[in-house]
Amino acid sequence: MSSTGLGQKIRDLAKDKKALILAHNYQPKEIQDIADVCGDSLELAKIAKDNSAEVIVFCGVYFMAEAAAILSPQKKVILPDLSAGCPLADSIQVEDLFSLKKRYPRAKVVTYINSTATLKAVSDVICTSSNAIQIVNKLEGDEIIFLPDKNLASFVQRFTNKKIIPWKGFCPTHENFTLDKALEVKRKYPEAVLIVHPECRFEVVDQATEALSTGQMTNFVKGLKTKEVIVGTESDMINQLQIVAPHLNYLPAANNFICPDMKKISLEKLYQALKNLSPIVTVDFEIAKRAKRALDQMLLLSKKK
Ligand code: SF4
Repeated sequence: MSSTGLGQKIRDLAKDKKALILAHNYQPKEIQDIADVCGDSLELAKIAKDNSAEVIVFCGVYFMAEAAAILSPQKKVILPDLSAGCPLADSIQVEDLFSLKKRYPRAKVVTYINSTATLKAVSDVICTSSNAIQIVNKLEGDEIIFLPDKNLASFVQRFTNKKIIPWKGFCPTHENFTLDKALEVKRKYPEAVLIVHPECRFEVVDQATEALSTGQMTNFVKGLKTKEVIVGTESDMINQLQIVAPHLNYLPAANNFICPDMKKISLEKLYQALKNLSPIVTVDFEIAKRAKRALDQMLLLSKKK
């Protein structure tokens, strides 16, 4: 069957099963094209919660489906491939956090949304790449254990006087974009603006015109006059940028700016998942309750002036 034929079958099946298909901005283009909504992980988890659909098919990685399940415990959250994980989220265990807490007993724990439900459950507050600075600055106390991304931690440290105690985790996809590669692409396209995600290395962020979350990138390009934009994040983000600002020319910052886990979701797996309403992602009730508290704390702090 052609991928277009399969795409139509998926749409029909989604209608039959009253399912909502959500796709992360880093999903393969053919998945983004047939999804009901594309967005970042928090945006999608909130949509899953507010939508009346009983079945949510989450095209993304495991921690994202978990976040949707935490916010919508009464819904069926399906991840078409359970092996789609995130090395950043898996870089830390709760025991590692307990050791850090022993060393820094006064510190508050801020955990990036790219983390397991178990880690969220033992954190004070969750953050995203767009609100991390705001959350850290609004939180009481002057010592912050920031998990699990060392690059986002050092990005936040630039904008706060608080002491940031980072974990050593990183996203291999963003870490792969080295300073040499950043300098090379800038040399090749001297007129272009370079936008990067704060999960990039510290020295790469230094070379960028702006360091932005994926949501902030979407807003940034809308008002941009410059013709060429080098995109320093997962290459499939470019699909979303093309939709909001088609007048610009987007260049992937590197050839291999690809998250292999995001690419585990295919049209065929999505079709099978919808047909069988499986595999389902669930989160233990107690863990979900505590993780939700940390997520709610984030929503509260990001509203406060
Ligand atoms: Fe995890 Fe990086 Fe892939 Fe995002 S791009 S899911 S942080 S490995």
